[in-house]
Amino acid sequence: MTDTERAIRLMARCDALAVFSDEPGRITRAYGTPALREAQEAVAGWMREAGMDVRRDAVGNLIGRYEGEQPEAPAFLIGGHLDSVRDAGRYDGILGVLAGVAVVERLHAAERRLPFVVEVVAFADEEGLRFHSTYLGSRALAGTLDEETLSLTDDNGVTFGEAIQNFGGDPAAIESARRDPAEFLGFVEPHIEQGPNLEERDLPVGVVDAIVGGSRAEITVEGEAGHAGTVSMARRRDALCAAAELVLAIEGVGRSDPAMVATVGQFEVAPGASNVIPGEVRLTLDLRHPADEPRLRAENQLRELVAEIGARRGVLATWHEVQGYVSTRCDPGLTDRLAAAVSTCGVEPHRLPSGAGHDAVALADLLPVAMLFVRCAGGISHNPAESVDVADVAVACNVLDALVGDLVQSC
Ligand SMILES: [Zn+2]
Repeated sequence: MTDTERAIRLMARCDALAVFSDEPGRITRAYGTPALREAQEAVAGWMREAGMDVRRDAVGNLIGRYEGEQPEAPAFLIGGHLDSVRDAGRYDGILGVLAGVAVVERLHAAERRLPFVVEVVAFADEEGLRFHSTYLGSRALAGTLDEETLSLTDDNGVTFGEAIQNFGGDPAAIESARRDPAEFLGFVEPHIEQGPNLEERDLPVGVVDAIVGGSRAEITVEGEAGHAGTVSMARRRDALCAAAELVLAIEGVGRSDPAMVATVGQFEVAPGASNVIPGEVRLTLDLRHPADEPRLRAENQLRELVAEIGARRGVLATWHEVQGYVSTRCDPGLTDRLAAAVSTCGVEPHRLPSGAGHDAVALADLLPVAMLFVRCAGGISHNPAESVDVADVAVACNVLDALVGDLVQSC
């Protein structure tokens, strides 16, 4: 089978999986649903054809194992997730699983065993659509799911624990899904980029160096509502004018570092009448950077700006922290090897951060992780218009072959 034929087959499998959905007419696959089960069964069939032993762990992750030359050999893990957001595309997560299967298929066709095991994992929940909590599958494997998570409920009041049971898993044995890091050489996650950088650089693939951390806050500005005709400009404490200054200050901080992004995504003005001076504004901040230190510095700078603008304008501006999460650095050694594999395939090994979260974040608690991004059209994802090119998929699979080959060399 040629590289192109292999990529065409992978894409056809993505199409086949797109049929399994919780909602007619669009792709939606939440944790524990019949659609996810059907998708898993299809993937399990392809894993078996590729010579893998297939099992499901206690949370319901699907794991294919291609044994090595020695029974006790460590494993190299490749994978992604089979669940999706609502009205999703057909590649997010799935591409990583099927690329792993494609690599093993080629080894199996050549009747080749390696000095290590190759495992392909299809996580049962990454997006958190049903329980509003991300990485449930990979956190189970990393051993970082706690009791509290099992009692999360979906919109129908079903707990995660009950859903695991209904899905054929075992919530009481969730600990058993945790893997011993000594079993593994590392994890590589091939994934669509979900951004426009590779397309802009005309590159089929890229190497992720870090998955960004973020700060989320809500800022409230309290001024004084008043009559738009009778209160002179000098006497006003206009919450919106102060908030407008803040929005531009946030943009300025975002622009101060090429790796930073800062977004005000929600903005509410009260009371919201054309003849009333705005008395109160609520806005949100989403601040991200691949490194924690510059992000935290920017966050502090913005906190000070909120206080300074509030004081100068005579309004009460308050910062409410919503959530902060640290960035994940991909493993430098494994990432260098992945970059070398990209070079071997004749592609410039461009490094870039991931602005979105991935299973690699959860697995980084356990294993050395690396991520390979595949160009996607227009950077569009979480959307039925998600699109990848056959030629790029062929390159991604070749890069994984080369990475596995390099690991064999050093065994
Ligand atoms: Zn994904």
